[in-house]
Amino acid sequence: MLAIVLCRHSNLKTRYWAVSLNSFKPHVRNTGSQSRSFSPILDTLRLRGGIYLSGLQEKSLKVPMPRQRKAVFLDRDGVLNLDTGYVHTPDQFVWVSGAKEAIRFLNELGFYVFIVTNQSGVARGYFKEHDVLALHKWIDSELSDIGASIDDWRYCPFHRDGIVAEFAMDHHWRKPEAGMINDLMETWPIEKDESFLIGDKSSDLAAASAAGIAGYLFSDGDLLDFVKSILSKRGHAQRSEPE
Ligand SMILES: [Mg+2]
Repeated sequence: MLAIVLCRHSNLKTRYWAVSLNSFKPHVRNTGSQSRSFSPILDTLRLRGGIYLSGLQEKSLKVPMPRQRKAVFLDRDGVLNLDTGYVHTPDQFVWVSGAKEAIRFLNELGFYVFIVTNQSGVARGYFKEHDVLALHKWIDSELSDIGASIDDWRYCPFHRDGIVAEFAMDHHWRKPEAGMINDLMETWPIEKDESFLIGDKSSDLAAASAAGIAGYLFSDGDLLDFVKSILSKRGHAQRSEPE
């Protein structure tokens, strides 16, 4: 669901923002360190002397909860791309066979597709958060070319052994903890019982378990085939195969 937000600037030009309202706490941007709810945007608009929705009050922005959907949480490195270590640029990114097609397949079946990825390279000083965001934007573009899409991303830039002070700490978003999954579950209307995670490490499966969803270990091969085998096991195949 989309809301159009109007903001009148000091130069009296009215600008418009299209803001996705996915739930009572719509997600706006993933910083990796915290979830941004709609409220900071409203605060920002107020600070700028803005008005929103033609002067309607904030409570008026609350919308009925959308229909719940099942979700697949995908690890990134080792699932979407070959894990060659601290991948952070498009030229380092080698797609796993069938990964793009697996995402499109899940899109067509009505699953939310989310990425939950530890990116301790930020804390270790190997690359910056903007590198992570730029790579994810590039991945989105690659997927768009075949009609696939990721609904939302979470990444965790923290690590206790980091050298970048801002990120050198334990953090509940870092797998095997479930923070990233839980944050997505709070942000999107998800059918938890029908949802699952695919990762390539035991820490991925531990995070899934901690969040109360099933986890499946992907080692190698074709991700689309792997997804189909999971859906078959879970009883989705007969009713979920697209025409
Ligand atoms: Mg991985």
